[in-house]
Amino acid sequence: LQRQKPLVVANWKMNMSLEKALHFLNSVQSDPQDSTVVICPPYPLLYPVNIAMKKLQTGVQLGAQNVHWEDHGAHTGEVSVGMLQEVGCNFVLIGHSERRMAGESEEAIQHKVKQVLQSGMYPIVCVGENSEEFKQGLTSQIVKQQIEAALKNLPNISNIIIAYEPVWAIGTGQSATPYQAEGVHQTIRQSIHDLHGSIAHRIPILYGGSVHAENARSLAAYENIDGVLVGGASLEVKSFQSIIRSF
Ligand code: PEP
Repeated sequence: LQRQKPLVVANWKMNMSLEKALHFLNSVQSDPQDSTVVICPPYPLLYPVNIAMKKLQTGVQLGAQNVHWEDHGAHTGEVSVGMLQEVGCNFVLIGHSERRMAGESEEAIQHKVKQVLQSGMYPIVCVGENSEEFKQGLTSQIVKQQIEAALKNLPNISNIIIAYEPVWAIGTGQSATPYQAEGVHQTIRQSIHDLHGSIAHRIPILYGGSVHAENARSLAAYENIDGVLVGGASLEVKSFQSIIRSF
């Protein structure tokens, strides 16, 4: 992935139905020349969405919201990278704050990142401070620690994508300012540099947290904001389409 080409990722979370998803795909347009657009539907929709994407040639790519770190085995309710690839996924979210809050450990996140990189898919690793940490001025410390935990001891990070998502900005309508986000993205890039050297300059860093049609353009203008991860505003074609057009 080229950092120069903006990346717009939709996280549908536990939303949408097959009918709505197909309607969405029929209407959404993206030009792969301008940006890379990825949709992450819930697991049961991956297969039919992949078929529809191929048929409609939407130029949109497919991602999953989570994955397990083993190839196969007795892990009820889990899915492997191989299964995701079989249904057309190239991307997978890892360590979203909603999963961290549900108990996902940094160790699990590291295993997942490693497994996804080995498969050739792109892991989108989510980091970000919560509201208490933000108020205490701990943002840099928290994101550095999360980056280190997820990215240490990896042989090759060239496919990694980072998403900075302040927890206090997710689904609240209260986005970080583009200036604030740019500052944290610089800190993240520096942490990646400390761990892995100059490849850090090629890693896309997305911003997520109440991105909508009105603030996408000003976020996109900043040097270290290489794209966005969108929750709520990715559920309606109109708002998602105008976010795509901001890049
Ligand atoms: C998200 O959950 O990744 C997210 C950014 O959500 P929202 O855009 O709704 O804040």
